[in-house]
Amino acid sequence: MISFASFKPILIAAALTSVFFSASSQANQAPELPSFQQCIERLQQQARSAGVSEHTTTAILGQIKPLPKILDYDRSQPEFVQTFSGYFSQRVTNWRINKGREKLAKHRKFLEKLTRQYGVPAHYLLAFWGLETNFGGIKGKIPTIAALTTLACDQRRSAYFSEELMQALLLLERENLDPKHMVGSWAGAMGHTQFMPTAYMKYAIDGDGDGKIDLWNNEHDALASAAHFLQNLGWKAGYRWGREVLLPQGFNYQLAGKSSPQTLAFWAQQGVTQVDNKALDNSDLSAALLIPTGHTGSAFLVYGNFEVILRWNNSEYYGLAVGHLADRIRGQGALSKPLPDLPKYKVVEMQQFQVALNQLGFDVGEADGILGPATRKGVRAFQQSVGLIADGYPSTETIAAAKISVK
Ligand code: CA
Repeated sequence: MISFASFKPILIAAALTSVFFSASSQANQAPELPSFQQCIERLQQQARSAGVSEHTTTAILGQIKPLPKILDYDRSQPEFVQTFSGYFSQRVTNWRINKGREKLAKHRKFLEKLTRQYGVPAHYLLAFWGLETNFGGIKGKIPTIAALTTLACDQRRSAYFSEELMQALLLLERENLDPKHMVGSWAGAMGHTQFMPTAYMKYAIDGDGDGKIDLWNNEHDALASAAHFLQNLGWKAGYRWGREVLLPQGFNYQLAGKSSPQTLAFWAQQGVTQVDNKALDNSDLSAALLIPTGHTGSAFLVYGNFEVILRWNNSEYYGLAVGHLADRIRGQGALSKPLPDLPKYKVVEMQQFQVALNQLGFDVGEADGILGPATRKGVRAFQQSVGLIADGYPSTETIAAAKISVK
């Protein structure tokens, strides 16, 4: 049983607000935040306008109590910058590859039918399923309506979560669900494939044909829904996500980055090959080069379907993990070389580095401590300027060079 007595994050939010306001000459008093009950009343009005029944609005939404832990999860910040090597090795595991192959054998006929219908090959559906919930092993047990209500009543992303809550209430009614069984992640993602309520309402379908759409308990519903969702996100049938590639000696790393796609023919001209040294297709297919661990690690060319994976979860690391796990489930071998063991940075160290690069005129955007595309681009430009290999990876030498330059 969770105690609702100490709803601390609201108090913290109030404290932050008062600090903010004390800086202005006008008010020394914090404005009153709406109480949870006032927030419920606002959400009830929104629910009625969205077409939720009076019964659900009163007997379910009206009875919700906040879940304080949810805001702790929402506010928790990692201490260290996530490295690709760490992320990837925790996700593309032998267990997931083997389990994926077992599930492929178990559902083969059904998965082949989905591929014909939606254009998405089986191994990708299994990769998403494996990464999201360990093939249904970890679906989350937090009551979805209470989680979304708590987040909707918090200031940080209130509009987004209020809308997801409305969709969750409509879903509850449409599928005649018991709220006790509507559970998932702390942020409201549900079932085998961790669909948010909006995605569930729009894209979940009845895979086994029993007249119900149950992403919690029915594997065929979950797989069919994932295929349907990916088709709607723009999956192109007949294309892969991308592939690992080999770069020639003296390669110009400034060409890397998701925002600088080129044709396969262009990459072939630059001396890029498949990992078995086979030539790339001499085609005008658009592909971007990613080198997530710098020049000592693997390089990848990613195609249009990689962008589709990022529409499911907007993270290059996630996209590479889905793509490679899919290949492995299908029978392909491991990466051509082991992932390099690179230095681990604290988020504050990465932020200091970003501030230094911005000061030096190499725009990396906001100093958020995340090694994203903008940071990599700025790092490449900086490395080029000081004569380091411009691979966009903040090596020890790169960070040291920035420290010296900024003085
Ligand atoms: Ca069903």
